[in-house]
Amino acid sequence: MNEETPHLYGEKGKIYLVGAGPGDPELLTVKAVKTLRKAQVVLYDDLVSPRILRVCKKSAELIYVGKRSGQHSCLQDQINSKIAEAAVKFRIVVRLKGGDPSIFGRVGEEYSYLLSRGFDCEIIAGVTTGSAVAARLGIPLTHRDYSSEIVLLSGHKKDGKNSEGFRNLTCSGKTLLVYMGLNSLHTIREELLNGGNSEDTPVAIIENATLETERIVTGNLSSILEAAENAKIRSPALIIIGDIVRYYTETKELKERIRKTLSAR
Ligand code: SAH
Repeated sequence: MNEETPHLYGEKGKIYLVGAGPGDPELLTVKAVKTLRKAQVVLYDDLVSPRILRVCKKSAELIYVGKRSGQHSCLQDQINSKIAEAAVKFRIVVRLKGGDPSIFGRVGEEYSYLLSRGFDCEIIAGVTTGSAVAARLGIPLTHRDYSSEIVLLSGHKKDGKNSEGFRNLTCSGKTLLVYMGLNSLHTIREELLNGGNSEDTPVAIIENATLETERIVTGNLSSILEAAENAKIRSPALIIIGDIVRYYTETKELKERIRKTLSAR
């Protein structure tokens, strides 16, 4: 942590690094809503839906700091400075991030930067996309008959694709939740097949989870690339790999059978 001259921030002021959940405003925590309602300034990302921003008070200044606002390479530095600038001007600052800020959300970089400059910071947890998606699909992530391990992976690393993360990874008995994996789907699939996983290993991709535009594509390691291409799946999308996806397809079929039986009566 870089300990430059700390900024002597007013004693009452505070920066909250808040999780916005996956998109549906009803998945905001009570603590997030309370904090957003008192924030004087909110710095938000691409993955924060407009409906969530409506929770902020009318007078709050809303500052977009997503990918479209600058060069990707220096973006994090720019964001850090923008939060610090806002905190010099305003007493209650919210940095609003998709899902849970601690899960592939770069909250650590912001937290260290702000702390080292003497700002008072607090992280407020959010519902991460993986668990929200599981609930949407009716998937118990750790159902004892299917999976006793959950692996959260990023398809992307700071310097490119995360091929190593998938190398020699066995899917049997596990649920893989892959964030930022869509652009690396080809590589992920190759690594998992090369590592001895069966072509039948089930896969689901959920686009825009919990929003009105949510779409789901299912398949297996053999078919998923084509299925995703045919459906024109776009980011943000979460990939679930493992037998638990079979539980989803089985329960979906069961629900369909029940619906048909009931409508035939
Ligand atoms: N901190 C976030 C993850 C940020 S990384 C969290 O806890 O959920 C960004 C990735 O999250 C996206 O590339 C995508 O894989 C996933 N993601 C975020 N919102 C999503 C949504 N509404 N639907 C599907 N995937 C989503």
